[in-house]
Amino acid sequence: MKQSSIFFDGSKDSIKEFETAINSARDSILNYFKTDRAYSGKTPEELKEIIENDVFFPEDGVSAKELFSQLNSNIVSNLVNTVSTDYMAHLHCPPMISSIASEVIIGATNQSMDSWDQAPMSTEIEVYVVNELIKLYNLGEKADGVFTSGGSQSNLTGLFAARDWYCKTNLNHDVKYLGLPPSYNKFRIYTSSIAHFSTEKSAHLMGLGYNAVRKVPVDDRQKMNISSLKEMINQDIKNGLIPIAVVATIGTTDFGSIDPIKDIRIICDNNKMWLHADAAFGSGLILSHKYRDRLDGLNLADSITVDFHKMFMQSISCGVFLLKDQANFETTSLYADYLNREEDEEEGYTNLVGKSLQTTRRFDALKIWMSFKLIGKEGFDELITKTVDLALETYNLLSNNRDFEVVTKPEISSIVFRLLDKNKSDIEVDNLNAKIRKTLLLKKGVVIGQTKANGRVFLKLTMLNPLLNIERINRLLREIKALA
Ligand SMILES: *Cc1c(COP(=O)(O)O)cnc(C)c1O
Repeated sequence: MKQSSIFFDGSKDSIKEFETAINSARDSILNYFKTDRAYSGKTPEELKEIIENDVFFPEDGVSAKELFSQLNSNIVSNLVNTVSTDYMAHLHCPPMISSIASEVIIGATNQSMDSWDQAPMSTEIEVYVVNELIKLYNLGEKADGVFTSGGSQSNLTGLFAARDWYCKTNLNHDVKYLGLPPSYNKFRIYTSSIAHFSTEKSAHLMGLGYNAVRKVPVDDRQKMNISSLKEMINQDIKNGLIPIAVVATIGTTDFGSIDPIKDIRIICDNNKMWLHADAAFGSGLILSHKYRDRLDGLNLADSITVDFHKMFMQSISCGVFLLKDQANFETTSLYADYLNREEDEEEGYTNLVGKSLQTTRRFDALKIWMSFKLIGKEGFDELITKTVDLALETYNLLSNNRDFEVVTKPEISSIVFRLLDKNKSDIEVDNLNAKIRKTLLLKKGVVIGQTKANGRVFLKLTMLNPLLNIERINRLLREIKALA
């Protein structure tokens, strides 16, 4: 096999190989976007059969033509179509065209964000974009941040910072060098009962365990109940436990509900606790003039999770972790002689590895640079506001329809509801709703969500796609009733 067909060597052959591959990939993508069906409907068994009937790692490679033909018929045709208006299950967005183009550049140039000499311009762009985001979220002079693989990594970074800060300021103990203090199994982290599971995962990774996470009940708007939070903290202190942090959710994964962050800040201050804001979902509201006031108080958090691969409609992965006081990046900082010498920084060469849990890291900041520039503030405002408006319209539709029950009025762009049937028992209604979701997926290629609320099975629509409209929602509700 000629090397010029594998890498660029500047030859005519290599240019031709590259163009063929990119054009074939483009054709695959155009084919993928052609259908409005969200999913082919194939079952796990059917997918496994397709995969297993193929030779995975042949002795001799196949031709590019053969490769792309197999890719298209076997794989691309069975990917979920995130641009489809039949796709509304998860916080999983259609990527903007500018974001797709960025991915091509990111992949082809393969910059690595750990050290300046592996990503000179990319490092400067990331630093610049992070500083602009700090201004956007009004975090003040001392703030800093870093791009992450998404909300889970941002939440983990926030909780690492919280733990190390707590131990240093309140226990005079340096976790980085000494490990956990003897009282570690008394540490408690508070988050609402419907918060994202990454807080528990983080507690486990940090050596504190799931039981260190205290689940605070929510009110009927699915927001953290503040008097319960106060009571739980006071009771825990009485019992000799050590409350170290609260994770407030700014847009819960299911309901999009927003915890009362200003009240939580006061409680954290009174108890010398860290406040992390998980705004993986809700962070996009900042670009909507109509709805941005729902983020009031977000800038009071000590650390914030922002995801761009949700409301901001960027391709995966794209998220940022923001820290109110950059001194707390001490938790991830480390110097290696071969990579990021301390003297580099003094000379003005920024090595971002010291702010991240990752070493080799993608140039995801490019997507924000490209997408913000291309459609501007007005473009984002219009798209994001539209999805929140649509959720409200859907809520009005459902709450005026006796066949359905809806859990709560949305604050962002998701709706949790179920079909009712007075002649059926609770369990039968659960089964009915679960079956409707599965039938939509496998028979109609329509992907909607399912979750639990108040102990019962509910359906969920997550409306990140600005192409979605109320006519489509109306049609979906009719389809659901017809299936029942
Ligand atoms: C999606 C989500 C996460 C996890 O983010 P990833 O980007 O999927 O890792 C965390 N918290 C909330 C509230 C989320 O909605």
